[in-house]
Amino acid sequence: MTTKTIIKEHRLSGGGVKYKASPNHGGIFAAGVADTIVLHYTGGSSFDSSVEHLCSEKTKASAHLVIGREGQVTQLVPFDTIAWHAGASQWKGRSGMNQYSIGIELDNAGELTKNQAGMYSSWFNRTYAPEEVFRGTHRNRTHPSFWHIYTEQQIEKTFAICDLLCDTYGISEIVGHEEISPKHKVDPGPAFPLDKLRQCVEADRADNSADNIFELGADRVVTATKLNVRSGPSINFEAVSAPLLTGRKVKVIERHEEWSKIEFTQTGWVNSRFLR
Ligand SMILES: [Zn+2]
Repeated sequence: MTTKTIIKEHRLSGGGVKYKASPNHGGIFAAGVADTIVLHYTGGSSFDSSVEHLCSEKTKASAHLVIGREGQVTQLVPFDTIAWHAGASQWKGRSGMNQYSIGIELDNAGELTKNQAGMYSSWFNRTYAPEEVFRGTHRNRTHPSFWHIYTEQQIEKTFAICDLLCDTYGISEIVGHEEISPKHKVDPGPAFPLDKLRQCVEADRADNSADNIFELGADRVVTATKLNVRSGPSINFEAVSAPLLTGRKVKVIERHEEWSKIEFTQTGWVNSRFLR
């Protein structure tokens, strides 16, 4: 029986999650700026070899988490610290997405080539049977090709962890490496249900904000660990203060869709989902 996974001091705790520190990381995130999750595949031959690789000083690469094919998880970098996973990248007017994101690597061999025997090969020459292969068109391309499937346990674990991260850190966007570096990257690729993940997290947010239709002038309490306060009602506006911490009392003075303008020592906009 596994216990529930929670986040404690910027680390996953419980549920069998392991921790192995990677030397490949930057400093602490600037206050409140990590508002995005970037998903990757390892393109490696095994969970353990990928963890080793991302902990080797030579690679200069890391991620916050690696999620394996049995749903096993190893964390390499705490969530308040910059990991090196996104490389040269751009998204919605920002570049160098390592500074703004939590990186999750999924153990997966990546794109496969069909051989004459009707089997499929990875770049490291392992052979895969047809039932381990997904045929689909990558969002950055026009023609279908072959991809190593993700397992159900792995997908389920990824959805659960993304949900937890969104709730804890007020993360508002989940993207694929292929979207923030479309010229060079194809991960996580079409075998991963990225759009469905976004819909699920979105639906969860809508559920939560349905409980949050409250009167203007009402006193509310911050439920997120760190809540970003922005200059306008969307994640595209910059933070106007250090993030508010759990339990902070605020007054709602204006609403716009799922966003609330709040008053504390100053004013700013927050996602209503993180107020109670
Ligand atoms: Zn990647």
